[in-house]
Amino acid sequence: MVEEKLKILLLEDSKIQAMFILKLLEEAGNNNFETTHVITLAASLKAIKDHDFDIILLDLNVPDSESLNTLHTVRPVASDSVIIILSADDNEELALEAVKSGAQDYLVKGKFDANLLKRSIYYGIERAESVRKIYFYAYHDILTELPNRALFMDRLNNFCRDCDRYGNKIALHMIDVDNFKFINDTYGHKYGDELLKVVAARLLQVARKTDTVARLGGDEFVIIQTHLSNAMQASVVAERIVESLSAPYVLFDKMVHSESSVGIAYYPDDTADIGELMQRADVALYSAKTGGKKRFQFYSKEAGDEIARYHYIDDQLRKNINEDEFFLLYQPQYDIQTREMIGMEALVRWNNKESGLIFPDEFIPVAEKTGLILELGTQIFKLVCDDIYSWKAQGLEPVKVAVNVSAIQLNDPTLPQKFEKIMKSYGIDVSQIDLEITETEILDYKNDECFATLTKLHEMGFSLALDDFGVGYASLNYLHKIPCSKIKIDRSFVMEIDENNDAREIIRAIILLSKALGKKLVAEGVETESHLKFLKELDCDFAQGYLLSKPVSVEDISKMLKEQKKEHVLFVAHTGH
Ligand code: C2E
Ligand code: CA
Ligand code: CA
Repeated sequence: MVEEKLKILLLEDSKIQAMFILKLLEEAGNNNFETTHVITLAASLKAIKDHDFDIILLDLNVPDSESLNTLHTVRPVASDSVIIILSADDNEELALEAVKSGAQDYLVKGKFDANLLKRSIYYGIERAESVRKIYFYAYHDILTELPNRALFMDRLNNFCRDCDRYGNKIALHMIDVDNFKFINDTYGHKYGDELLKVVAARLLQVARKTDTVARLGGDEFVIIQTHLSNAMQASVVAERIVESLSAPYVLFDKMVHSESSVGIAYYPDDTADIGELMQRADVALYSAKTGGKKRFQFYSKEAGDEIARYHYIDDQLRKNINEDEFFLLYQPQYDIQTREMIGMEALVRWNNKESGLIFPDEFIPVAEKTGLILELGTQIFKLVCDDIYSWKAQGLEPVKVAVNVSAIQLNDPTLPQKFEKIMKSYGIDVSQIDLEITETEILDYKNDECFATLTKLHEMGFSLALDDFGVGYASLNYLHKIPCSKIKIDRSFVMEIDENNDAREIIRAIILLSKALGKKLVAEGVETESHLKFLKELDCDFAQGYLLSKPVSVEDISKMLKEQKKEHVLFVAHTGH
């Protein structure tokens, strides 16, 4: 391969000096320099306009310019060239000024030879290169060499200003690589980095030259699609992004899969505020991700409101988790045959000082996502123990209290100890508490941690109930392995008893199954006599629901416990037991 010659421009008005320098250059360059010689500033400007020079050797005093003025004129039009001053003036101050004004070196005529000239040239190139690099990486991501957040914001601002001026539209595609964290954690950073590089390369292929592909950090990429005339064009690009990033990746010796999601917001249609545009694309990305992977999603106001509410709840939870804002209601559970109250479920409520009563269906999922459920779960357990303690102090023998435990809490191996400590401090026995575990996607019986905690709780003597049974996931395959003594049929089936034959069949099957496995069955959401009748005929054990009692306050459930005690005394008196 032939190395390209260094292109040098020499501005020198003195013929003798020029001859001398050209000779030195010949010696220094050893045939690798290609030199153009001019004698006026005007001529040098013309030459610079026509050619790209690597090096400009500049005499400061020429017929049409003098001193630093010469440098000041050349520097801006030759931004990529190395400039070396050749001066007759051995003036340190001037030399310093020259370097400050962007010259790479300052040589004094008569005081340099071929060697020094050569060194100065190559040193200048190196230095200019590192300055270029520093400049480049101030605005580009080192790993992928894509524009970074700073450059992206700069371009976005410019594009948006163009939109305002010319009535264009742009689409902002926010891109997330679903499996990045997994690949990074499983195979190491080397593979994670390689994945990001390939993603960057694929995105560059999908985008047009006029679009901007940038990496904002982590696995967050973005494309600004410019010159849009209609929304269809954005969905075509988004679809191509999703498709391209879903193809298998070969990373060194491994083939891995990763999918991705895209959220899109339009400027100025969705918003004419740049900060908001970013947020809205994020909102769209979030709903793309939660709606199943490998999707793209446009921004919608509904999704925006939902996420705003999510953040609000999250924020309020964080601020108030240690305030006394949480309290319990209790819903009795009855023996279907005798209609005797055999237990009750503790259901948490949140009385937030800012927005009033909030239901668990709304805040429990947020607490689960953010991990706050660990703290909240312990608090709820304390509240339950506190109530049991005061019932006992009143001479009431409380029925069993069922406490809901989130699957996330089971990932905490110290959960059994935490519960034990609380019970001990109240002098409460494990036989008084049932734990209801909701079977969801997150309750993963294959997850050793989770299963170990379940087993530990069982060994401690807690009886476990599997909640919301039937809507779930791995349940059937694992049912015989889970150390639970009760199953709760989800209320969505019970509610359909009158109308839906499938629901009746499912309930029948679940009852048969639980009997075969020796587990007790609780039906929740029993709202009508006909629900109850159907369940009674199938020999379901227990029932809970609005028909029998809604969740009630501590005071009300205390009254019910007193009534039950009276009835029991009466019953014993009647039968003579
Ligand atoms: P879940 O464990 O399935 O609780 C039963 C839900 O059904 C309760 O809603 C209860 O009020 C409601 N319900 C009871 N009977 C009927 C009925 O006849 N008809 C209808 N339509 N609904 C009935 P709630 O109290 O809003 O709780 C909702 C969910 O929030 C609970 O579902 C549970 O998953 C979660 N949750 C509640 N309290 C806690 C808690 O202390 N810890 C945890 N981790 N989750 C809780
Ligand atoms: Ca429950
Ligand atoms: Ca349930």
